[in-house]
Amino acid sequence: MRFSVACGVSIFAALSALGQSPREPIALSGLVSSTDPLHHHDLQFDARFAEFGADYLESGDRRAIPALAGLPASRHLLAHARQFNYDVPKNSSRALVDELMDRSTGRLAAMRAAIAYFRGPLLDDPHWINDALAYLPADFRFQGTLFLISGYDIGVALSPDASLNAAHRHFEGRPRELLYYAVHELHHVGLMAYAPPPRIDDLKTCADVLHMVEYSTALEGTAVLAGLARRARDGALADDDDYAALGDAARMQRNEARYLREFDSLRRRGIEPADEAALAVLERMSSGERLWYRVGARMAERIEREQGRPALIALITEKPGTLVSTYRNIVRR
Ligand SMILES: [Zn+2]
Repeated sequence: MRFSVACGVSIFAALSALGQSPREPIALSGLVSSTDPLHHHDLQFDARFAEFGADYLESGDRRAIPALAGLPASRHLLAHARQFNYDVPKNSSRALVDELMDRSTGRLAAMRAAIAYFRGPLLDDPHWINDALAYLPADFRFQGTLFLISGYDIGVALSPDASLNAAHRHFEGRPRELLYYAVHELHHVGLMAYAPPPRIDDLKTCADVLHMVEYSTALEGTAVLAGLARRARDGALADDDDYAALGDAARMQRNEARYLREFDSLRRRGIEPADEAALAVLERMSSGERLWYRVGARMAERIEREQGRPALIALITEKPGTLVSTYRNIVRR
């Protein structure tokens, strides 16, 4: 039987009807002293989607679905799915939540472990946020939420918010990966505040697709770089394929050559229509050897080394589309 939440009944009332107590978002400003620079960020940590989702997987009580759909996390995921044209229901939060709960089936224990890490060690000392801020302009302030959700990608960002997928296998048995991915996604939030992402639906020509490649290379490459120092200190480079690849010089040389081949063939096509072959470049750049993550990090790292971090930050926030040409000018390739 399908229950629905009566009009005017709050999410919390509906969820306490299920025997659960409200779990409030946690504000960063309350986790640090008033003299800490982090105190001036308006950043919330909200695990309710994962928590209520886990409760639903345990109970099977369908009243949880509309309640989940009413959470701010669902608004964030629906907006992300529409912006990046994800293969999920995009007509309503409710249809999206139904799909995400389907995808989370069988992941209950992993979700509970991720929730415990998110509410515990991740927030016990939130100074890891400075890793993301170190690659953003000094005047940047967070004004959004990091959600813990389930069933959607691994982690995504759409300024001013970001989310991590508690049900993703990458985090299973390695909860600290949630912290590294939080750095990555929060860096995206910052960069997008200065340079909004192009929309997939607006890609009409090969030049538009090339611009998307340039933007994504700056976005992903710098976010990977922002996570590098702490992973290296923690001995956690091998726990993520992107960082394992970055440590393999020969593999990265091959990756860079492949990246530049793809880049140049797209550039040669100029104002030709963005056909299937052109759009397939996006797929090859973001999966497999994940060229715009890995080659992007290599480019960003080299620019930082040659020109300094302030120059890299100015470049990615003001003209992310020039990261590739700046790198090529340095290495003359
Ligand atoms: Zn990313």
